[in-house]
Parts: sequence; C-alpha cells; structure tokens
Amino acid sequence: MKYCRFVVEEQVCYGTVEEREGEWWIKGLAPAPEEDLAFHLAHLRGAARSVYFDSMPLSAATLLPPVTPSKIVCVGRNYRDHAKELGNEVPAEPLLFFKPPSSLLAPGGVVQMPPAAARVDFEGELALVIGRRASKLKADADWRSYVRGYTVANDVTARDLQKKDGQWTRAKGFDTFCPVGPFVSDEVDPEVGLTVETRVNGELRQHGSTTDFIFSIPALLEYITAAITLEPGDLLLTGTPAGVGPLAAGDRVEVLIGGLGVLSNTFAQAAE
Ligand code: MG
Repeated sequence: MKYCRFVVEEQVCYGTVEEREGEWWIKGLAPAPEEDLAFHLAHLRGAARSVYFDSMPLSAATLLPPVTPSKIVCVGRNYRDHAKELGNEVPAEPLLFFKPPSSLLAPGGVVQMPPAAARVDFEGELALVIGRRASKLKADADWRSYVRGYTVANDVTARDLQKKDGQWTRAKGFDTFCPVGPFVSDEVDPEVGLTVETRVNGELRQHGSTTDFIFSIPALLEYITAAITLEPGDLLLTGTPAGVGPLAAGDRVEVLIGGLGVLSNTFAQAAE
C-alpha cells in the first residue's frame, strides 16, 4: 500500500494513495495520533472512511513528511560516481551520519539556506522507512520484513561547512535540510532497480539507479543495526548518485523515483 500524511480541517491524518489516470489521489483517512501508526494503517486497510472526506488529488493536499522518525540515519558515498566527483575514495565500509528529525521538511516546503553557508547542494536519494524494531540483523535475515516501505528524500547539504567543520552535523542538520515525501510505498523494489533523478528548475542534474549502490540494503541494515537499534518510522537515506551541485535562492528542486512520485521543494535565502 501507499500512504501519505497530511492536514485536513486542522487534523493531522494518514491517507492511502493511489494512481488514477496518471495522477496521484488520496483516498481513505485516519486521524494520526503519532504514537500508533501501525494501528491506523491497519484501520485504513479496512473500511475506514471519514464522513467529511472522500478523496482529493495529492497535489492539492497540505502534505506533511510521511513519517515521524526518532532518527534519520544516512549513508554517504554509496554510489561510485558520486564518491569520485567529490574526489573521495570508494569507502571500504558504509559511511554513516545522522540528520536530526528537526531537519524534516514537507513536500512543497521551502528550504531555508542559512547565512552561515556559502554553498548549499541538493542530493536526491531513496529513503527506506523502518516498519518494526531492528537490532543486530544479519545480512541473511528476512530484511524486507523490517521495512515498511520507501519514499523520496533530499539530503540537503551545506557543502562548505561539511569541509570546514570536520564532521557533518551542522552541514547536514540545519532546519529544513531534510525534505521527505510525498508518500511511502511498499510496492517498489530497490533491489530490482529504481531510477533516482533530480531536476533543478526542470533541468535533469542527477540520474542514477539503486542497482549501483556500493552497499546493498541488507548489508547496510546489518552494519547499522550492529550499532544502532532502528525503530518503526525511522528513516534510512541510502546515498546520492553523481551530479550534485550548488543551489541559488529561488531554485526549485524535484527528486523523482519511479513509483514513489515527485518530491518538490523550493530554496530561499534565510534572513540573518
Ligand atoms: Mg547524501
């Protein structure tokens, strides 16, 4: 199933998403106390329908990030071509970092480029959504049973601060630096190959495939959960393909992944 998180009549809700004649629509609805998504997703699978809501185009909805993670774990340099373009070696082990949940931004939201940063880059990425608590997984475990689904993310990065600071907390962690959405789907398979594309003001800038990962999803899950317990709703950003580049105020960035829709955000210069 596919689902999104959005606002209807000042109520945060989850809705199911389906494609109808080439357009994405939201159908079904459940109010969203954040602590019990599993219950509400089960509810949605049944006959639950609101009396005041039937359906609406996804494009007309006030969307929120589709997940409320306790943490966002990210993988750096997981595509050979991207490691090369920034002059880095292909890593021997996954290179992990966090983005804070406070950096989440809804589809359609405005990324605020901070005055402290001289260069802010886009990084289009596939994100994996954890479905149940995962700890000390082995690569031969049934890893798919720990995955709720997949969505689209933009790992926005202050490139100059990433170099200057020596670690990446600030460069990757500014408020609004993690746009995610528009919805989560368990109906795609990154191991078969999903195309990850990024467009800036309509111009194609990144084009990669998840079959080009240096570290596969089961290998990443084994490596991460050896150290960190992943909770339902946690996000794993799987790295970006080649083609990253700087943005200017007013730019519109769209990240497109087949079957997962388009994540579109504009960029603005934040005030001092
Ligand atoms: Mg990245």
